[in-house]
Amino acid sequence: MATENNVISNNFIEDIIDEELSTGKVDHVATRFPPEPNGYLHIGHAKSLCINFGVKEKYHGTCNLRYDDTNPTKEDVEFVDSIKEDIRWLGFEWDRELYASDYFDQLFDFAVEMIKKGLAYVCDMSAEEIKNTRGTLTEPGQNSPWRDRSIEENLQLFYDMRDGKFEDGAKVLRAKIDMASSNINMRDPVMYRILRARHHHTGDKWIIYPMYDFAHPISDAIEGITHSICTLEFEDHRPLYDWFKINCGFDPGPRQIEFSRLNLTRTIMSKRYLKKLVENGSVSGWNDPRMPTLSGMRERGYPPEAIKDFCARIGVAKANSEVDVGLLEFCVRNYLNAHASRVSVVEQPVLLILDNVNDTELVENIDNPNDENSTTHVSTFGKRLYIEAEDFKVVAPPKYHRLTVGGMVRLKGSYIVQYVSHETDAEGNVTVIHGEVIPDSKSGGANANIKVKGVIHWVDADNALDCTLMKYDYLLLAENEGADFSERMNPDSLKVVEHAKAEAYLKDTKPYDRFQFVRSGYYMAARGYSEQNPVFNYIVDLKGSYKA
Ligand code: ATP
Ligand code: MG
Repeated sequence: MATENNVISNNFIEDIIDEELSTGKVDHVATRFPPEPNGYLHIGHAKSLCINFGVKEKYHGTCNLRYDDTNPTKEDVEFVDSIKEDIRWLGFEWDRELYASDYFDQLFDFAVEMIKKGLAYVCDMSAEEIKNTRGTLTEPGQNSPWRDRSIEENLQLFYDMRDGKFEDGAKVLRAKIDMASSNINMRDPVMYRILRARHHHTGDKWIIYPMYDFAHPISDAIEGITHSICTLEFEDHRPLYDWFKINCGFDPGPRQIEFSRLNLTRTIMSKRYLKKLVENGSVSGWNDPRMPTLSGMRERGYPPEAIKDFCARIGVAKANSEVDVGLLEFCVRNYLNAHASRVSVVEQPVLLILDNVNDTELVENIDNPNDENSTTHVSTFGKRLYIEAEDFKVVAPPKYHRLTVGGMVRLKGSYIVQYVSHETDAEGNVTVIHGEVIPDSKSGGANANIKVKGVIHWVDADNALDCTLMKYDYLLLAENEGADFSERMNPDSLKVVEHAKAEAYLKDTKPYDRFQFVRSGYYMAARGYSEQNPVFNYIVDLKGSYKA
């Protein structure tokens, strides 16, 4: 975890590894990141990625990417590909790319061995019956009537399952453990089921598929994983993990260590629900900039460095908790503050004509005042400027420090301007303001010290870029915390601002370039950005209220 002076301290997983290395229990470290390819990675997965790849980097070990692909009906190559792209975008590189399905032959052989040892049996009960005889937390389960089949019969039936002699769901292979175990996971869990479904990786080769609880430990063990890091909901599965591992001859084999899942305020962290939003058209896709997916964050403009910083700050703990989404935004803002060029963009433009200006002047702007080696860019200042409509008021409210009738204000980085007159349309909206600049009032000039209370930003109207701003907000409302997501959807999570005016410098922008719009926040040139299609995505505000 990063601390204030950036010393990286150990998390509890690293404490365990240090201990094992010092006692010689392990002599190297091998982890894996095991996504199920049934959706896109989200910010919760980033936590798991940072832990697994963090351990790899710290101990000069390895980390494999292993797709946990034992559910063919829910999985797809689209997800396989997006997962790789997102991991690379975060800046991690796996050692080997593997699939649990690479082990289907070996898993089948291990299952046969288990049958031969009397540790697995074919059961004819339906999924429903199995569920109903599993017992409860307080009552033991009941033995299956098929539990005592002979080894020979079990072997034959298991081969017949594989060879397509039975209907889907007609039989399963179960581990023979203990129907009275206090841990429900140990009550003869299913190891294999019959499912006629095309698999994205193995095609039609198999019609029986191993269950996660069997496939996972054995895949870890075959691969030589030393530490199988997973989330807390698998803590109760650990005895089963160890049981499979040991009974398949891996002893000690990999060690499962659980950590708490990341939950974020105002953020949907369930792939199932995110998928629903994609399918019902609430968002434009998995990579919609409002989505908490890594690809959504990429399109929104979140820098991968900021996401890693966030993961370091939240640390790794054993207890579940909810993290304020403001911390993630703080990390994004913090990074952009140090890296994004400052530019002028007027969102709701109104024309300011400077009656005593005739020539165009060049203005040099420092791209990042926080960086002493900052680059600069040039913008123009001329007779016709755009300013924000809200920066001029005919009747000024109290404490209003911008331009008013009869008043003066400084134009950012330029002259002081004095009000002359204004025009309105039939509805009374201000359409044009006339003003005059005070000569020599630029910084360093003879009249620079004239007291004005406010500074407003502006864009040269004669070469401004007309652009569109996609102003994103949370998908979820703050209210109704705990209610079903469908009752918390924010109807205004996207507002489109058209005809904003940007300084000409932004015409050369490339997709994914990020900026600070000096007044309104951080923005990124959207994918597909061009001078003909100048769209900027709102990333995060300038200040935020979160105190890190
Ligand atoms: P979901 O419930 O969203 O489908 P999952 O746990 O089923 O998530 P997987 O693809 O199986 O998703 O996850 C790959 C890895 O990422 C697993 O090790 C999992 O524990 C971890 N992971 C998933 N969600 C989170 C989260 N919110 N916080 C931390 N780790 C997570
Ligand atoms: Mg999962």
